[in-house]
Amino acid sequence: MQFRDLKTQYHHLKKDIDAAIGSVLDNANFISGAPVTELEEQLAQYVGVKHCETCGNGTDALSLVLMAWGIGPGDAVFVPDFTFFASGEVVAHQGATPVFVDVDEDSFNMDSKRLEEAIQAVLAEGQLTPKVIIAVDLFGLPADYPKIQAIADKYGLKVLEDGAQGFGGAINGKRACSFGDAATTSFFPAKPLGCYGDGGAVFTDDSDLAALINSCKIHGKGSFKYDNVRIGVNSRLDTLQAAILQVKLRAFSDNELQAVNDAAAQYTRKLSGVVKTPVIPEGFLSSWAQYTITLSSASQRDRLQAALKEQGIPTMIYYPKPMHEQTAFKDTPFIKGSCPVTEQLCGRVLALPMHPYLTEGAIGAVASEIKKQI
Ligand SMILES: *Cc1c(COP(=O)(O)O)cnc(C)c1O
Repeated sequence: MQFRDLKTQYHHLKKDIDAAIGSVLDNANFISGAPVTELEEQLAQYVGVKHCETCGNGTDALSLVLMAWGIGPGDAVFVPDFTFFASGEVVAHQGATPVFVDVDEDSFNMDSKRLEEAIQAVLAEGQLTPKVIIAVDLFGLPADYPKIQAIADKYGLKVLEDGAQGFGGAINGKRACSFGDAATTSFFPAKPLGCYGDGGAVFTDDSDLAALINSCKIHGKGSFKYDNVRIGVNSRLDTLQAAILQVKLRAFSDNELQAVNDAAAQYTRKLSGVVKTPVIPEGFLSSWAQYTITLSSASQRDRLQAALKEQGIPTMIYYPKPMHEQTAFKDTPFIKGSCPVTEQLCGRVLALPMHPYLTEGAIGAVASEIKKQI
């Protein structure tokens, strides 16, 4: 059994993907070919925003937004304590200070009450200026943007949606990557919408921001390629990846998003009452980057993971360490004890095999092995 079966997906889409790759090779327009602009239009339309700027990866996408907003030393950026390293790394990379905020134990996403407390603590201390909230759509579930946006408005902060895992999710029909002032996603192969290498994108309704990001991602270009008006980076999605993503986006919206939701529903039916299953709030839709169960202790989690491995069932621990415990953040100010939920979750979560081509038989086998072990 595969944790995320990219081979089976390729097998299903092979004809179209091979044709798309073949056409890029024939045209030999490997950078900024027509499929890149076409994909950007398709992605913006799918998400429901005015602008999509593709780039080299999901980490660069976050950095480009912070760069365009001029975030730097002395600025506080609020980031969930329970997320992939990049969500906080980009803040420190700009010279700003990440302030880690605890998450909600049911949604795994930033807890809006803890967020407001963290903003007030930074203001009371008077050392840093609160600027941005990076909310993460962890495991495919959009963060609680209605609540987060209200807090951002109250304190005059910008909201950046890290939708690296969230593409395809929604809140009351409004799609992920359309929340906040800007949003980003990643096309890393194992993400909900993945390419065959690295890739990422920024989404926004703000035309000035989109233009600035377009400049920043191409060496700070001005009116033409050899007119450079600011210090930028080189971060582009190449034409091959764009052509592959055009095929994958069709499959994603035609059936894969529905398929992962069906798979998740089957897991939940079989596992509820046995272990804590993921909670999807009313009106929310997940794109199931992960299906994460919560065990009652670290020892139970570790025993279960070992037993499943013995049966050939792969599982993953996302994430084994809170952000504030990462060595790279050892000099980042952190109020001890302010993220107890994240500390608990890191010891107890376990992600099960999840992808659009998971069979009912496989889900049944995973569930019955878990029932046997608990
Ligand atoms: C994967 C991921 C990123 C980074 O994306 P890359 O394309 O790997 O650079 C950022 N944030 C979160 C939450 C992620 O899961």
